[in-house]
Amino acid sequence: MCQSCQVRADSTYRTAGTAGTTGEGAAGLTTHAPQAAHTVTLPGSLDEAVAALSAMPTAVPVAGGTDLMAAVNAGLLRPAGLVGLGRINEIRGWQYQDGAALLGAGLTHARMGRPDFAALIPALAAAARAAGPPQIRNAGTLGGNIASAQPTGDALPVLAALEASLVIAGPGGTRREIPIGRLLAGLDMLRPGELIGYVRVPLLHAPQTFLKATARTGPSRAVASVAVVLDPARRSVRCAVGAVAPMPLRPFDAERWVSSVVDWDGERTLPPDVLAAFGDYVAAACIPDPTPAQSALDGTEPGTLPPAVLHLRRTVATLARRALGRALA
Ligand SMILES: Cc1cc2nc3c(=O)[nH]c(=O)nc-3n(C[C@H](O)[C@H](O)[C@H](O)COP(=O)(O)OP(=O)(O)OC[C@H]3O[C@@H](n4cnc5c(N)ncnc54)[C@H](O)[C@@H]3O)c2cc1C
Repeated sequence: MCQSCQVRADSTYRTAGTAGTTGEGAAGLTTHAPQAAHTVTLPGSLDEAVAALSAMPTAVPVAGGTDLMAAVNAGLLRPAGLVGLGRINEIRGWQYQDGAALLGAGLTHARMGRPDFAALIPALAAAARAAGPPQIRNAGTLGGNIASAQPTGDALPVLAALEASLVIAGPGGTRREIPIGRLLAGLDMLRPGELIGYVRVPLLHAPQTFLKATARTGPSRAVASVAVVLDPARRSVRCAVGAVAPMPLRPFDAERWVSSVVDWDGERTLPPDVLAAFGDYVAAACIPDPTPAQSALDGTEPGTLPPAVLHLRRTVATLARRALGRALA
């Protein structure tokens, strides 16, 4: 069985018109879209998957299915076909290349949360461990997290702070590489038939942290998240804030300031008041004071934030202060 979409692992088959009145296709499809015609393809390589998508432009790729099948079951999406990525072994692990790790898009959160991966990219492992309940972590993948591009995607601020790039597989065996920020900002979209194949992450060999605030206890989506990575070779601290905007935000001025006060050749620790100032700097950069025009729209006092937004800003400040403190500890 394919874990992601609950279909048999036959190579390619069609269930058009076979759904009948039971809501299940002959192949045991369990979506709640009984009238939809489904072509389900389970390729064994990235290039085969790209070819399948190119051959059927209305089909969509499915990896763990945690986001996609939820949308199908909610009636938000009726894909004419699915290209399952679960059998593509080449994207389920990672390899090393020129001081970077080339992470397969099919890596699950559960796999990234394990100690060997945590030794390599600690902040991404921490984000993976925080991503939803165990069922989601077992099925959900890195590539799905990126392609979904939800503001609450836990991997996204980490990849932004690491300045990761995406290796995209296209028709005819082509590969192109783009910074993750360009995809998340909508400046460079996936073209028809393209798939995220790998994520290139520089190996910094230095502490890095990811912290997340949620609205309730137990596994749940972020209200705000902060990733902090140290890059001793460039003598820089990089930071990204997740969940407070449609894409992760980089507070560049705060990064530059704190990078200039760290003693890179010495102990690298910072006193509590500097950590707190960093937290406030990051929070104010990501959640700025309203302009007079915004205040007029919100009906709030000029220059003051609504209480809920002020609370969010304090949350970000606390996360950023703690994340930097832990990275420098
Ligand atoms: C109950 C619940 C709780 C969750 N909690 C969290 C959480 O705390 N943190 C968090 O970050 N996420 C959370 N998620 C979201 C989800 O688990 C992740 O975003 C997951 O990483 C998606 O991966 P997937 O493999 O399941 O993607 P899928 O559902 O298979 O696909 C998602 C989208 O990405 C596309 N896609 C998948 N792989 C590729 C690829 N290689 N190239 C191009 N496009 C691709 C699909 O076509 C689809 O549009 C939660 C989801 C649920 C249902």
